[in-house]
Amino acid sequence: MSASAVVSAGGAERWRRGHPWIHRSDLRAEGAAAPGDIVAVRTERGDPVGQGFWSPASRFGVRMITHDTAPIGEAFWLARLQAALALRRRLAPDADGWRLAHADSDGLPGLIVDRYGDHLVVQAQIPGMERLLPVLVRGLVELLSPRSIMGRNDTHARELEGLPRSSAPLHGDPPDTVEVREAGVRYLADVRSGQKTGAYLDQRENRARAGALCRGRVADLFCYHGSFALHAASRSESVTAVDSSAAALARGRENARVNGLTNIEFVEANVFDFLKTADRAGHRYDAVLLDPPALAKRRADLPAARRAYHEINLRALRILAPGGLLATSSCSSHLSEPMLLEILAEAAAEARRPVRVLERRGAAADHPALLGLPESTYLKCILLEA
Ligand code: SAH
Repeated sequence: MSASAVVSAGGAERWRRGHPWIHRSDLRAEGAAAPGDIVAVRTERGDPVGQGFWSPASRFGVRMITHDTAPIGEAFWLARLQAALALRRRLAPDADGWRLAHADSDGLPGLIVDRYGDHLVVQAQIPGMERLLPVLVRGLVELLSPRSIMGRNDTHARELEGLPRSSAPLHGDPPDTVEVREAGVRYLADVRSGQKTGAYLDQRENRARAGALCRGRVADLFCYHGSFALHAASRSESVTAVDSSAAALARGRENARVNGLTNIEFVEANVFDFLKTADRAGHRYDAVLLDPPALAKRRADLPAARRAYHEINLRALRILAPGGLLATSSCSSHLSEPMLLEILAEAAAEARRPVRVLERRGAAADHPALLGLPESTYLKCILLEA
């Protein structure tokens, strides 16, 4: 008999409403399951509510997979990968770097698959998906015949699940970098050791949009490998691109060369210091692109994160020339869009700059949010004119 778990009435109701993570405090009893087992989940009255991955080390003991009780085998996972791919084909991103599988949003709990040209990068963030990697690799090879698949199992999320960090090729021989096309530019994704799976694909559509609105002098702050800068440079006089990662900046310089761009200056600095100095020196930019890392990783970080978002947005507004563009992002799921807009309104008031909101954007469409899972709505990108 397969292992099972019993969930509280509240936990079962949350899943019925679409939230697939069952908190430990909602688990009433559990069978003898091993990490990564698929368990049959029932209410205390014995009614089945579906099946999920068992993860004993996690705050979320079960990650729900289905509402039904039909056996889950290799064909099931292949069908979910196929459905994920079908959506991306319909979305037809103007790029060959995009997200093929976005975890729960694609019915694939704890699984990320990113595509970079002929190469794939896979992240398994929970024991259930870790165990399924051979099945998933077979499925991905069947669907897409990639030249390589890199396993980037080096995320912090894995530690919360009791999984070790490890990175290793899963198929073929992944190159150090893959050249990727994105709207009108090309960039090198470091699939073996770059941040995330090699690039921040969720900002793809925002980069093209913000880039199209840039002119004059531009600052791309928290630039990683120059992602926004590449889109801005052809429409601008000059771009100053700032990041604290020397490795990302080295690739940024390479990316500028790949695109024949000579007007991007890459600066290794702490953006908080860079903004302070630029503000005090009275420097002016026609566009500031602000894309910090998640400053509120946990809910408890929110007060400090609010102050940090306030500080960088205030200073960004102060160094904007009249009519300038501020494209400001937050990828903290704990900081909602209304909270970010409130921070921006306070910063605008303090800077004494009337500000217009041109667009409120989110993650690219290949990163769909699951309506029942607020955690999956994380990225905000607000385009403002000061
Ligand atoms: N805009 C990028 C993604 C940025 S992610 C893109 O679209 O691809 C956040 C970046 O901030 C990372 O590259 C990280 O190296 C950098 N970073 C983190 N803290 C920083 C700091 N205090 N100063 C400068 N860069 C920082």
